[in-house]
Amino acid sequence: MTARLIDGKVVSADLRGKVTDAVHRLRRDRGVVPCIAVVLVGENPASQVYVRNKSKAVAEAGMRALDRKLPASASVAELRDVIAALNADESVNGILVQLPLPKQIDPHEIIATIDPAKDVDGFHPLNVGRLASGLPTFTPCTPLGCVLLAKSVHPSPAGMEAVVVGRSNIVGKPVAQLLLQENATVTICHSKTRDLPEVCRRADLLIAAVGKPEMVRSHWIKPGATVIDVGINRVPREDGKTRIVGDVAFAEAREIAGAITPVPGGVGPMTIACLLLNTLRAACVQKGLPAPNF
Ligand code: NDP
Repeated sequence: MTARLIDGKVVSADLRGKVTDAVHRLRRDRGVVPCIAVVLVGENPASQVYVRNKSKAVAEAGMRALDRKLPASASVAELRDVIAALNADESVNGILVQLPLPKQIDPHEIIATIDPAKDVDGFHPLNVGRLASGLPTFTPCTPLGCVLLAKSVHPSPAGMEAVVVGRSNIVGKPVAQLLLQENATVTICHSKTRDLPEVCRRADLLIAAVGKPEMVRSHWIKPGATVIDVGINRVPREDGKTRIVGDVAFAEAREIAGAITPVPGGVGPMTIACLLLNTLRAACVQKGLPAPNF
């Protein structure tokens, strides 16, 4: 059996369409234009591309993007000042600090200075705690994207065995929290997990967020399982260039899985769509309007 492809471009386009319609209504009926500020410190080429793509997507959704760029030599105090000004600016609804930050800046310290009501990445400790408590909050974008893709195959994951490989604060842990809220039975694996292939084989829903190219092999996958591959790994090609692969050995995995996300074109496009959704929700909540839930 060849697995059904879960097309992140299609699912994300649908979400972006809904967000764009809601933004249009918000502007027309309330005169509100959601605005996200993206803070970039330094000149990391990958971060520059992400920030450009985010700004483009924000504009396409009818929102406003504000770019704040600081040199790689910026101090913690300078960055805190920029964030404090954005916190105080009522026209700014969401604030995103692009990671990674230069070595001299502790990301935890900086994220904690963002107004939790504008924390559209969902990384502020208060929002992390709200997510763990099952309270309304900003859900981190990539984990939310993973769960929306899983739900495009299983609208209700209740009772499913879900295995998450990876326990980072930005992907593994929040994905696990979200799946728990969906009433899945969740196992979180990491580098110290014993007999990882055996644990993975239990999964009806397998989420790979490891950062190791094609680590998850076909014999780790239960026949018919749904596989969500978060990994983005650049590997050399025979012609000396590079290509992007996920954390799952896609070609062999799709022969055994029931449904699987490709890399690229799976989780990746969902992240920006979920950021747009979070920014729209932030604007609604700040204006005392009901937050949309698509
Ligand atoms: P991290 O490096 O922060 O975390 C990796 C996790 O994988 C850790 O918990 C680590 O365990 C675990 N791990 C590493 N090696 C093994 C192993 N051999 N066996 C089992 N577990 C292992 O990565 P991120 O969570 O930030 O990212 C994961 C992947 O997702 C990366 O490829 C990244 O590029 C991609 N990504 C994609 C995004 C998108 O938009 N699609 C967004 C964010 C990330 P331990 O804790 O024990 O060290």
